[in-house]
Amino acid sequence: MAMAIRNRLFIDNEWRDGAEGRVFETFDPATEEPIAAVAVAEPEDVARAVDAAERAMKGEWGRMAPERRGELLERLAGLIDARREEIAALETLDMGKPLRESLANVARSSRTCRYYAGAVDKHLGQSVPVGHNAASFTVHEPLGATAHITPWNYPFANACRSLPAALAAGCTVVLKPASDTPLTTLLLGELCAEAGFPAGVVNVLTGGGGSVGAALASHPGIRGITFTGSVSTGRRIAAMAAERVVPTVLELGGKNPLILFADADLDNAVTQTLRGAYTNAGQVCTSVSRVLVERRIHANFVEALAARVRGLTIGNGRDNPDIGPLVSRAHYDTVAGHVRVARERDGARLVAGGARAEGQPRGWFWQPTLFDAVTPDMSLAREEIFGPVLAVIAFDDEAEALGIANGLSLGLTSGIFTRDIQRAFRFARDLQAGMVWINEWFLSPVQTPHGGVKESGIGREQGLAALANYTQSKTIGIRY
Ligand code: NAP
Repeated sequence: MAMAIRNRLFIDNEWRDGAEGRVFETFDPATEEPIAAVAVAEPEDVARAVDAAERAMKGEWGRMAPERRGELLERLAGLIDARREEIAALETLDMGKPLRESLANVARSSRTCRYYAGAVDKHLGQSVPVGHNAASFTVHEPLGATAHITPWNYPFANACRSLPAALAAGCTVVLKPASDTPLTTLLLGELCAEAGFPAGVVNVLTGGGGSVGAALASHPGIRGITFTGSVSTGRRIAAMAAERVVPTVLELGGKNPLILFADADLDNAVTQTLRGAYTNAGQVCTSVSRVLVERRIHANFVEALAARVRGLTIGNGRDNPDIGPLVSRAHYDTVAGHVRVARERDGARLVAGGARAEGQPRGWFWQPTLFDAVTPDMSLAREEIFGPVLAVIAFDDEAEALGIANGLSLGLTSGIFTRDIQRAFRFARDLQAGMVWINEWFLSPVQTPHGGVKESGIGREQGLAALANYTQSKTIGIRY
């Protein structure tokens, strides 16, 4: 299939090289071959993109009727659908995930555009009683130019998680994708122009996080930041935002527990664990990375899960295996390091995987890996690995399970598997997490708020409430 590869900066609806003409390479993780040389933005390019986004706020876009903004988002959704196979193929080439998953991510992206297309005129202000002969009401005004910095695990879908909400609210956008996977976000810039968004409304900058990302997040013209990525970078972004008192949404990491009780449907629990832990080779912020299992069924569960894990297929994402490669050499080394520590230092019991996948001449392939006899103090039970590595921890009672689940500084998502509705609701109440799923994993459609508590983040994306990420309230009062 013909694949349009965009590799230049997208500013003011035009493609341009970086001011110094510098480039970096992006690689196919399945073959380690370079795909494209991509422009590095310099500080003057960051300034140009923010300037374009600010100017667009003062032009046609700033005065556009909400329903027209909605029509443009609808058009964007249609263009994404029309080019879904091309976008998905490019995502798989650049990121490595199975084509089937890329297609699902693209479908989710157009769905998100449509959701916010319908939301443009539903972020209502209030009329506030202030007494006789007086009136007071609120309006929601767009923040202005916003920065959206995204990670490499869902490049297109993450860009399409925040961008439609920002556009629906009337903001303009400067996107900065991860350097490992810039290609589909650049293509998104093209689709936005084709949909009819005026120049400057959507801009895409590429280049290093510490340089381009930091310059963008700290630029005085940026009035809001949505950041998705690691806790350590999130802290830096929060500090930059604090300096200029700019609202920030932080979607950060997780170490998500699935808590399995003996009364649950075991087959369902095994299936959901497999899906939750190994989708996108475990490179998902909401992955299951700890399974806490009631000791009575622990041995049966591990045996059933191990058989399924050993049956997973591994290969080039375009051939639709269960598991593709990890995104980069550096990430492969990180995952390998975690596994080494678990085996050699901490003494966890390796049940499946644990090494490079055989049969792959090149590429950053890691076997789906399962560890048992993990204790809550091991680093395997505490640190986000962000790869296909799952830790099983046995527990004896509810209090112990809850203590282990809540015992970390992260709190993105969690799951409870039980047939006891009372227990399910007790856990839903007591789990320290932004999302709690009962008897299923990955229950996060666009209409539901997404985000974490504790160090997993601040704020929520998705759902109608996300419009508030991109607006500020103004109170207008009159005495008559
Ligand atoms: P990362 O290293 O924090 O990078 C994320 C983005 O920030 C990239 O675009 C990166 O650019 C940029 N960046 C890096 N340093 C920066 C700085 N000093 N200033 C501004 N921008 C900077 O995270 P990652 O390794 O790509 O992603 C994995 C993490 O993301 C995991 O912890 C995962 O849980 C989390 N995540 C969370 C969610 C959620 O919804 N909560 C979703 C997906 C992923 P470069 O690529 O150029 O360095």
